Amino acid sequence: MGRQQLLASLRTSVSDERVLAAVAQVPRELFVAPALRRFAYADRPLPIGGGQTISQPTLVARMCEMLELSDDDLVLDVGSGSGYHAALLSRLSRYVYGIELDEELAAQAARSLELAGIDNATVVAGDGSAGLPERAPFDAINVAATAHGEVPPALEEQLAVGGRLIAPVAYEGTEHLVLVRRSRDGLQRTLLDAVRFVPLR
Ligand code: SAH
Repeated sequence: MGRQQLLASLRTSVSDERVLAAVAQVPRELFVAPALRRFAYADRPLPIGGGQTISQPTLVARMCEMLELSDDDLVLDVGSGSGYHAALLSRLSRYVYGIELDEELAAQAARSLELAGIDNATVVAGDGSAGLPERAPFDAINVAATAHGEVPPALEEQLAVGGRLIAPVAYEGTEHLVLVRRSRDGLQRTLLDAVRFVPLR
């Protein structure tokens, strides 16, 4: 499947034109190993090393859409892996701080972002469940690894008023995406699609 075919199939689940344009702009092949490049535009998850996977483009695009990003948003990306999701987020916002637990993946993600010519996203190695308090508050937070029972409280705390957070959360064995919004009155949590992600460690 080529990039045009992928975009056509994405249109069945994603309607935000800005998100579709971001998928069209970011070369996914730069974020996967050379041996997997011929699958870069298949709508499927791909291994990225360290036993981790980059989610399928439809899911990554849906998550971007649900964050309702605008050009001046500051974004935190937890579990940056290959950096692909961070790259898409960077096309839709002002700046993206990515955190990845695996040091090798974090370094590779930073290189891939540079190769893609993206200068408004950085990926650092660290434990993303603690967030990045020194850069908070964030207008949007994206989490790509499953937390157990609840969204990590530190991440909800680092959400700006008006901010949105999306994270996979496991409740008694079933995983769902959870969308959190912070308003002046507090946090509002909505349970969305069933999904499968690697665990947040
Ligand atoms: N968003 C990524 C795919 C992520 S897979 C992409 O676009 O490629 C989930 C990632 O979360 C893995 O790379 C894993 O190492 C990382 N991870 C797991 N627990 C983490 C934690 N506590 N802090 C930061 N990263 C974590």
